[in-house]
Amino acid sequence: MDTEVVVVGAGPVGLMVAAELRLAGVDVVVLERLAEPAPHPKALGLHARTLEQLAMRGLAGPFLSGGARIPAWHFGFLSEKVDLTRLDSPYPFLLAFPQHRTEAILAGRARELGARIVRGEAVTGLAPTGVSVRVGTEGRSWEAGWVVGADGAGSTVRKAAGIGFPGTDADTWAYLGDVRADAAPEPGYGVQNEKGALIVAPLPDGLRRFTGFDPARQDPAHRGLTLDELEETVTRISGVDFGLRDPEWLTTFGNATRVAADYRRGRVLLAGDSAHMHFPAGGVGLNLGLQDAMNLGWKLAAVVQGRAPDALLDTYGAERRPWGEDVAEHTLAQTALITATNPTGQALRALLSGLVRTLPDLSLLLARRLSALDVHYPVPGAHPLVGTRVAEAPLADGRPLVEGKTVIRPDGYVWWATDGDETPPDLGVAFGG
Ligand SMILES: Cc1cc2nc3c(=O)[nH]c(=O)nc-3n(C[C@H](O)[C@H](O)[C@H](O)COP(=O)(O)OP(=O)(O)OC[C@H]3O[C@@H](n4cnc5c(N)ncnc54)[C@H](O)[C@@H]3O)c2cc1C
Repeated sequence: MDTEVVVVGAGPVGLMVAAELRLAGVDVVVLERLAEPAPHPKALGLHARTLEQLAMRGLAGPFLSGGARIPAWHFGFLSEKVDLTRLDSPYPFLLAFPQHRTEAILAGRARELGARIVRGEAVTGLAPTGVSVRVGTEGRSWEAGWVVGADGAGSTVRKAAGIGFPGTDADTWAYLGDVRADAAPEPGYGVQNEKGALIVAPLPDGLRRFTGFDPARQDPAHRGLTLDELEETVTRISGVDFGLRDPEWLTTFGNATRVAADYRRGRVLLAGDSAHMHFPAGGVGLNLGLQDAMNLGWKLAAVVQGRAPDALLDTYGAERRPWGEDVAEHTLAQTALITATNPTGQALRALLSGLVRTLPDLSLLLARRLSALDVHYPVPGAHPLVGTRVAEAPLADGRPLVEGKTVIRPDGYVWWATDGDETPPDLGVAFGG
């Protein structure tokens, strides 16, 4: 055996899984096909639940000190933004923080904890042997007890494991330009009208991301984007000439939406975009994946080290897959709102914006959904607190915590609770203590 676990993909999710495994002392190798990290940030934001979980590991500091706090964010580009300041979290905001910086912090953390990250190693297939999995790459093969596929939406691991990826193909295309602007609008600027949709998000070093939907550029045969095309689209939709220049990244992306049929097949597990893909509306995809990693890491470590039965790993997909489907559903709904440029759609949007403005509880409900504070893992028949979220808990060592009459899991959810005099079962010893 070359290692206990191979993680395929050194994106944010693979790196987080590797760090969590190392925290428990599991031997882990991360195989990444790219020789160097990708230069352009896809995700731009970290939501409240992700920040809570990073804080539990003592990791929130570099993120909080290096990102801007955005108090309200878009749901479906509605004109009324969703108020994040009322979230019941120590982090009632969206933190603007580009993905490549997140990856650099997580790579540093994984390495510091002892993970081996091998770059330029593209995985080509898997061969399960019963007690291990052979992971084939272009150059050699690695034998591991377990494999985590964190290799993105086109996942080789998912395909090799024979796990289906049902859902819908892209029928809508968005534009994206990371550029400088002579007349930059304030961060969070957004417009949606009969001509299309645009939001502007902040990036470091004076860059801005101009992104949105242009109904006039939906030809599937023309998927490139030039600076002139971006400028024309943005000016036509917003009515403002921002003087766009110095592009760093110009691209288009679609709204294909899929959730893996299973998150586990034997000794192979999926996490992040390999398990779910969707339109990046609301800025939730990376967050969803990091929360997968937090759920999976301690469970896989406990099973690898013989401290928990194999069945604990089945709870990973049982708990996380419904939340992947939840995100697939609300990002499809947001896509419908973003692309609603005809009079009927405009009327629907005006109605919904009015409701979000006048019903603070609706705004809060949408804010909790975007920020994943509504995620919970109920256990039928158990105490009602079991599976509920704990916002703040010192879980830096990744082990369960006994707090009065509750036991808190390493990913920050109540695991056991009582109203009576019972003492907690020895879950710490069984599953990670
Ligand atoms: C334009 C855009 C904007 C977005 N904005 C946001 C946002 O604001 N907020 C948000 O939360 N999310 C956002 N997302 C989504 C977010 O970027 C993804 O959810 C996130 O990157 C998923 O991380 P991951 O680690 O699962 O996968 P990835 O980031 O895709 O990483 C997978 C890694 O696996 C490697 N790999 C692939 N195949 C192999 C192989 N065969 N062998 C070895 N390595 C392999 C890849 O090179 C890559 O490094 C956005 C996405 C896009 C496209």
